This record gives sequence, structure tokens and C-alpha cells, in this order.
Amino acid sequence: MLYLDNSATTKIHSEVLETMLPYLREEYGNPSSKFYLLAENAKKAVSKAREQVAELLGCDADEVVFTSGATESNNMIIKGIADYYGRRTDVNKNMLTSKAEHPSVIETFNYLEKYDFQINYLDVDQFARVDIQKIKEAVVHDSPMLTSIMWGNNEIGSLNPIEDLSLVFEENGLFFHTDATQVVGKVPISLNKLKGVRLLSLSGHKIGGPKGVGAAIIRKQSKEIFTRLTPLLHGGGQENNYRSGTLAVHNIVGLGKAAELAHKNLYKNIKRLNDLEKYLTDIFKTNLGDKVKFNSDEKNKIPGLISLQFIGVNNELLLKKLSPFAALSSGSACSSSKPSHVLSAMGKSLEEVRQTVRITLSTDVNENQLELFREIK
Ligand code: PMP
Repeated sequence: MLYLDNSATTKIHSEVLETMLPYLREEYGNPSSKFYLLAENAKKAVSKAREQVAELLGCDADEVVFTSGATESNNMIIKGIADYYGRRTDVNKNMLTSKAEHPSVIETFNYLEKYDFQINYLDVDQFARVDIQKIKEAVVHDSPMLTSIMWGNNEIGSLNPIEDLSLVFEENGLFFHTDATQVVGKVPISLNKLKGVRLLSLSGHKIGGPKGVGAAIIRKQSKEIFTRLTPLLHGGGQENNYRSGTLAVHNIVGLGKAAELAHKNLYKNIKRLNDLEKYLTDIFKTNLGDKVKFNSDEKNKIPGLISLQFIGVNNELLLKKLSPFAALSSGSACSSSKPSHVLSAMGKSLEEVRQTVRITLSTDVNENQLELFREIK
């Protein structure tokens, strides 16, 4: 079966699995314990993983906070800033985001509305991108306590102008968070050059790592001063007090290895995914002509993610029919029961939403396998 739903999750990389296994068997120490070898080994393994993640993102290792995944990182950052800075009655409780964010961002903002936060959900364009001009205006008008705009969209693949947004927030000093879950390992990231990006989220299982682990990047404002936020989980004070709980060493080690591989193979993977994407889109274009319509933009996008419509074909029926041969998705795996809020925000009609299919390639597939799609008539 051809697996083409890599935005939902990826197959664990064999080297990642090998790196994790000792930490599920003999290396079971708690990194918060002291002196004896098992504990020291666990501590060293976590510390190496932190370096590997930092290397991939171009930040400092002590800015990496391990979490259970991007959902937790997004919740922790948004609620954490809201709680830490929003407790005073005299503060401005405005926050800014977009209508195309992942549910773990949108739903968290919806929750904050119950506590008197005013959330501005900005419209997006036909490719689900934000308009930098509208961000600048909202920032001048409202001085939002926090702005959260995703780097790359999980349904359409469009990239937002993060470098430009970073400059805006570097200038005004307001908190800016980006959900980078879908772009890690797919676009070069150098946080040391993006001074305005103060907070970032990612998940391990989107880059060949295990499920149940991710990171929140919390940048230092100066050498020592970290961005402050209230933790989601209180307890033993692990992860610099940002995230209590005994560290899942095997998962963290797996995320570290996945980050190392993503870093090492970044440009090779980008090229391969772009080549495969072109091969597949050419098949659709030559074979189906105007019976297909592409939702994704051709440029400034996540390599290997294609969102397209098969005109007049119900996506659920098509996916079901294809399911013995190929795994695809009708949108995102997170909201499959509801019509996509992203496609709706892009201005697509219900009919267009119902004929949309998302294909996300990986470097594990080859051109011969993609020939399967010539069968679609
Ligand atoms: N943000 C984005 C953009 C995503 O695509 C996802 C996963 N679909 C998440 C956040 C949540 O990641 P996780 O389910 O691993 O917590």
C-alpha cells in the first residue's frame, strides 16, 4: 500500500527506532535522578537530543522544551502567555491569529475568549496565507499580547511570510509564535536569524520520529532572560520549570535522532519531494486535464504536499475506493468529520471542499509507484 498521508503522520525512521530501543530496554534511568550511571546516561541522552533539535532549528539547546507534541506546545504557549501576562486587570487582553490555523491553536484561542480575551481571527487569501499588511495594521491598532501565525499550512501547504513577520515583531517587541509542525525538515529554519519569532511548536511524528513527543521553543530575550509563561503542567519542575513530569527519554532520544536526520538530509529531501511532486502533478494534468483543479499554490509551499479537487467526485468515496492501494486524506486528519475550516476560509464552496483530496509525499516513494494514479479516469 502506497502511504501518501505524511502530513498526518510519518513512518518512524529505522535509525530513529534503533536509537530509541536501548532506552526502552536497559537504559531506563530517570534523568532527574543523580550520580548513578543509569541516571547520568539518561541525562546525557536528553541533553544530546536537545542539541540535535536546536541544531535543526538554529537556536540554543536551552531554548528547547520537550513536550508531548505540537498540540501541547501550542496550548502551553498560548495559555501560558495569556495566564502569565493576562492576570492583571489593567492589561490589554488582545491576541491575534488567523482563520487557517490548526485546531490546537484556534480552539485554544476560543477557550481564552471565555476569560475576556479578545481574539482577532484574521481572514486569509485563496491559498490560506495571511496578509502582512493586515497584520501590521492589527498590531498598530491593538498591540496584541500574543500573535500566533502558522509557518506552513497542514491542509494546503502554503507557507506564510515568516521572515517578514519576524521583522515586524522584532521591531515592536510583541510576542510572536509560529506553529512550525508541518515545515520542520521541509524548509530551512534558522531561528538565530529570526529574532522576532519568540515561540515555536513542533511534533516528532511528522519528521520520522515517534508519536507523543514534540517541542516548544521558548527563546531567550537576552542572554539570561527567558520569555516567561505559566506552565500547563505543574509539578517537579522539569524542563526549566516550563513542563513538569518525568521525561519520556526514549521518545526524546527518538525526536533528537529524527531532528539530526532531518537536518543532515534537508536539501536532499526538499529536492526529492519537489521532483516527486512535479511528477505526480504532471500525471494529473496530462491524464485528467480540467477534471482536476489544484487548491495549492505552485510556489512558496511545503514540498510534497498537494491539495487538489477531482471535479464532480466525492472525496470520501474516492478515498475509500483507493484505500486498498493508497492512503490519502480528504483534508487534515484532525478534523475529518467537519468540512475543512481552512478551505472554507480560503473561500471554497462546500462542493469544492467535498471534492478535495490531500496527498503528502515522502522520500520513501518512487515514480513507479506514483504511476498508479494514471489509472484514475
Ligand atoms: N499543528 C499542525 C500544523 C499540525 O499539522 C498538527 C498535526 N496535525 C498539530 C499542530 C498537532 O500535532 P500533534 O497531533 O502531534 O500534537
